[in-house]
Amino acid sequence: MTMPAVHLVWFKRDLRTFDHAPLVHAAAAGLVLPIYLAEPAYWQQPDTSARQWRFIATSLEELAADLTALGGPLWVRVGDALDTLRVLLDALPIAAVWSHAETGNDFTFKRDCAVAALLRAHGIPWHEFRQDAVRRGRHDRSDYAAHWAQFVAKPQWSQPESIAFVHALPVSLSRHDIPSEAALGLVPDACPQAQPGGRSRGLRLLHSFLHDRGKNYVKAMSSPRTAPQQCSRLSPHLAYGTVSLREVVQAARARQAEVALHQTPYWPRALQAFASRLAWQSHFMQKLESEPLLEWRNLHPALRQQRTTIDADLLQAYATGRTGLPLIDACMHRLQATGWINFRMRALLAAFGCYHLWQPWTAVGQVLARLFIDYEPGIHWSQMQMQSGSTGINAFRIYNPLKQSVDQDPEGTFIRQWLPALRAVPTLWIHEPWRMPEAVQIEYGCRIGVDYPAPIIEPLAAARVAKARLREAYATPDARAESLAVFIKHGSRKRRRTAQTQAATPQLSLFD
Ligand SMILES: Cc1cc2nc3c(=O)[nH]c(=O)nc-3n(C[C@H](O)[C@H](O)[C@H](O)COP(=O)(O)OP(=O)(O)OC[C@H]3O[C@@H](n4cnc5c(N)ncnc54)[C@H](O)[C@@H]3O)c2cc1C
Repeated sequence: MTMPAVHLVWFKRDLRTFDHAPLVHAAAAGLVLPIYLAEPAYWQQPDTSARQWRFIATSLEELAADLTALGGPLWVRVGDALDTLRVLLDALPIAAVWSHAETGNDFTFKRDCAVAALLRAHGIPWHEFRQDAVRRGRHDRSDYAAHWAQFVAKPQWSQPESIAFVHALPVSLSRHDIPSEAALGLVPDACPQAQPGGRSRGLRLLHSFLHDRGKNYVKAMSSPRTAPQQCSRLSPHLAYGTVSLREVVQAARARQAEVALHQTPYWPRALQAFASRLAWQSHFMQKLESEPLLEWRNLHPALRQQRTTIDADLLQAYATGRTGLPLIDACMHRLQATGWINFRMRALLAAFGCYHLWQPWTAVGQVLARLFIDYEPGIHWSQMQMQSGSTGINAFRIYNPLKQSVDQDPEGTFIRQWLPALRAVPTLWIHEPWRMPEAVQIEYGCRIGVDYPAPIIEPLAAARVAKARLREAYATPDARAESLAVFIKHGSRKRRRTAQTQAATPQLSLFD
């Protein structure tokens, strides 16, 4: 008996069955084959890591269970995406491919171009839907705010009530188990306190944030002590699509209406701040969508010939949390153990690597990307360019690691938690332990250069040098003209400044 036409649903960074337009449309069109492609070559990329895969793997387990509840299996295939698709096209009467569009890294961008060409050559349509407010290839940002508002207000897609699934495939296409890290060639990456994946966990986080944890979000978000509990922690769930942006925004709006009705203190500000950040997600991703080279090349040409050489020792000290600057090192140790840190500390880490250590933002960005479970290329690379002064349209934010340390961790609680060598050091010295007199170092069992490293740079002097280099690079008339071009393509129009006013200020602030 010949098999009816098959509609292939390709799960990518959208590991859910709810609010899933491709699944709904494929189910309405005919026989559905849901597939996840685990690509070893992707997991060899310098921005990927085992901790990210583990989040995906736990999310795939739940996705598989949800599909089983709907009556069908999830087909997981390990291998090159093109090879797998070629085998599928040869073996099955594929009528169409359905998926969400991805704004990914260089690897997935090129892979998707090759897949599109393959499907075109076979005359098979590939229906791609958006799960964020990013527009393919669009450069004009003038109507972004309206587009975003329209996108997130649309009704969510219900899970299909019945789906006709493909239950058996030719032997050569047998279903794989969710592969191990070793099967994908991943290097070991211990992350003992990693955030686990799965839609149900994402939904629980959303609920606890909106009804309990988020009350003091605005105040708590900047300190690495308070942010882990009081930020939403939805980033990996949004990055791998276990929850949809639309459902998060709509749940936040419903809660906004509720707190407005009851005049609940703190919540209106918290929810407003949360809503803004949700809008930034697609705003940043759009930059990479519009300019894929942004992952490798400075948006603004002024610094392209500078900061190109990696100092392996400096980068290694940075990546392993041995710079001798306690807050920087504590953040790195926290990241290694948990895979997450708050925005302010991410910005500090990026600034320290790119300004104080004057390392290429691409290299610093790869170190951080591997550590972030929630690695989202569009947000990450746009932020790396911005926080390293490479865009020509954002203010230079050369965070002072000593000031941040005093401001965000005044008692040194966070530092002591993540740096055992400094545990006994009194608060007086915790932010600058190298200033302890030798007798004090001995008394508290923390000898600088033995138990804890001496600082690898002097932060204030290093910041001065970086600032001077930036000023010089961006001071020319050509550089100012180029800033205007970058702004027109990538700048936010939020405050309705004209492009001319924007460009007149050599470096503009973050979300103007
Ligand atoms: C150098 C650098 C690299 C970053 N890389 C990533 C990354 O790879 N993946 C990632 O999801 N975020 C990244 N961010 C943005 C931000 O730090 C994280 O989104 C946030 O800390 C995640 O925690 P949360 O989910 O609790 O955020 P919340 O504060 O609860 O915010 C809710 C959601 O809004 C979005 N969001 C929040 N802040 C931002 C922002 N500044 N820009 C864009 N979207 C935002 C995220 O989707 C987040 O999950 C980066 C920031 C910097 C400075």
